[in-house]
Amino acid sequence: LANEKESMYLVSEFASKYFQNVLLNTEEGKAIGLTYFKERGFTNETIKKFNLGYSPDVWDAFTSEALGKGYKLEFLDKTGLTIVKEEKQFDRFKGRVMFPIQSMSGRVLGFGGRILTNDKKAAKYLNSPESEIYHKSKILYGIYHAKQAIAKQNNCYLVEGYTDVIQFHQAGIENVVASSGTALTPDQINLVKRLTPNMTVLFDGDAAGLRASIRGIDLILEAGMNVRVCAFPDGEDPDSFAKKTPYEELVAYLENNAKDFIQFKASLLMDEAKNDPIKKADLIRDMVVSISKISDRIKREVYIQECSRIMDISEDVLFNTLAQLDKKDL
Ligand code: ATP
Ligand code: MN
Ligand code: MN
Ligand code: MN
Repeated sequence: LANEKESMYLVSEFASKYFQNVLLNTEEGKAIGLTYFKERGFTNETIKKFNLGYSPDVWDAFTSEALGKGYKLEFLDKTGLTIVKEEKQFDRFKGRVMFPIQSMSGRVLGFGGRILTNDKKAAKYLNSPESEIYHKSKILYGIYHAKQAIAKQNNCYLVEGYTDVIQFHQAGIENVVASSGTALTPDQINLVKRLTPNMTVLFDGDAAGLRASIRGIDLILEAGMNVRVCAFPDGEDPDSFAKKTPYEELVAYLENNAKDFIQFKASLLMDEAKNDPIKKADLIRDMVVSISKISDRIKREVYIQECSRIMDISEDVLFNTLAQLDKKDL
């Protein structure tokens, strides 16, 4: 079994090199893939650092190359790079630009592939399927390139997507990882927690992004981490914002707009509930649930005071609600 995993790592590493070679050294790769990355503002240095690539728009280009080099179909199948169907073999990522997903130690575990057309029927991003080496819920995109900076800066920026991570690096901010659009898991949080107790969650500037992210944040509190959040202007995500903002301005934006999560959530909820007492009661309970995830007693006390102020409700009520929740947990 150890051998099987090793074979899967090897074929994934080969695929990553193959896709990059296609991107940089073939007519199709240059005309389509490289042009696309250039339009997104990625430099050659960035493309090499993140091993970005392009998978030819041919149904079995990668698969036949890999088989020709002696890689076994079994492992092409198990890594999901090849789809095997009734004796036929297809490249999973045909015609997509490729983002290799690396482990903490830099091994290629899987891929994200982005479609280049605006075809609304096809998935914009396609990921490797779960396998013995790729567990989506246990990895964060960019952790290999971010780990040193996370420890050094004693903070980690969490973004939604591949391109957010890459654009931030290019802008000079390297302590950044992506959840790749899914809800954050305890395993992913622990990857970061080993490096720093501080996380700053960066939202895409759309309401959907905000709502979805907020729900996942209680888990980060539960892990005992300090959470700050920062939103971007309407319609911007960290990628598009970093692309057009000079380094000093970007750093200043992050510093000026990152808010403590509990305060942020309390203000947001209050705006929503303004003149609706029943809704307000629900939201206060929602708030107290978030606070109940924090085990540090002193921090709790401080947050109760903050929420009491922001939500205009007595500290006693908040403490009592908290005590009831704690009892339920026992
Ligand atoms: P881009 O800037 O390339 O359009 P993005 O990174 O801004 O993409 P979002 O739509 O904000 O993409 O989604 C964030 C992340 O969610 C993506 O980077 C990707 O990891 C994941 N994702 C988005 N769409 C899909 C999809 N259809 N299938 C699977 N994962 C997806
Ligand atoms: Mn988004
Ligand atoms: Mn986005
Ligand atoms: Mn984007």
